[in-house]
Amino acid sequence: MGGQDDLQWQVGDVTIRRVEARVTAVPHGSICSGITPEVVDEHRPWINPFVVDDGRMLLSIHSFVIIDGSSTVVVDTCVGAHGDRPLPQDPHFLERLEESIEGGLSAVDVVVCTHLHFDHVGWNTKRDHHTGELVPTFPRAKYVVSEVEFETFSDHDHVGIADVSVEPLVSAGCLTPVASDHRITKHIALLSTEGHSPGHVSVEIVSNGERALITGDMVHTPIQFLRPEISADRFDFNVDQAISTRRAIIDRVADGTTLVLGTHFPPPTAGHVYRSADGNIAYAPHLESERSV
Ligand SMILES: [Zn+2]
Repeated sequence: MGGQDDLQWQVGDVTIRRVEARVTAVPHGSICSGITPEVVDEHRPWINPFVVDDGRMLLSIHSFVIIDGSSTVVVDTCVGAHGDRPLPQDPHFLERLEESIEGGLSAVDVVVCTHLHFDHVGWNTKRDHHTGELVPTFPRAKYVVSEVEFETFSDHDHVGIADVSVEPLVSAGCLTPVASDHRITKHIALLSTEGHSPGHVSVEIVSNGERALITGDMVHTPIQFLRPEISADRFDFNVDQAISTRRAIIDRVADGTTLVLGTHFPPPTAGHVYRSADGNIAYAPHLESERSV
């Protein structure tokens, strides 16, 4: 199975597993200029797992594997190993991902792309050893992306993901643009969270009265649940929309019952957003994750 950092959660009958590609320390300002060292210090001690001592934020790149009965769903596929990328590639990630899925890559039924940015679609494809061509990594999977995202992403494709991570799927006939509220299984559905990108979606899991939300990039650090007006200003496509999306999602999860799984949050990765006694929004890292076995 995967490395010791891999975490797993049970949400009703659904199992969700984190498979890590890497965690990198980056200055908060390189992603969210509104997060200064003073802002970080305001959020201690709960923020400590998400920062290093000098206050830089820990940015995780990982996939989530969701097992819902006989269906296996992968949410986002990290940086990959093709093309010129602004973050380090993860050439050995695919072996780890394969080991973490019972039945391997061919057991995956659906791949969700929360949005079409390079650090979420890299392992959509792999190189065929015989032909040298890029082919779908998950041979049986239907890849889903929101229609709005699919129709608009090429206008903002700064690092050329179309050729390596999208077009090979289109050629193979396995990429399916879907509505932003598309249902994947009985317990898993997309939830529109536009702003970071034009057609960005999150993923909601509801089973046996339990609930989880995979954020995608509507947030990059849990500080943004407490300070939703702080945007990933260099990366959010529409800052105002990203802010109103964060406010709407905070309202949706602030009763504290939703396990929030951050797409860029390092371990513990999961947490709860809740309204504290003074009425303010607070965040509690969820420390009781199981190790995957
Ligand atoms: Zn991202």
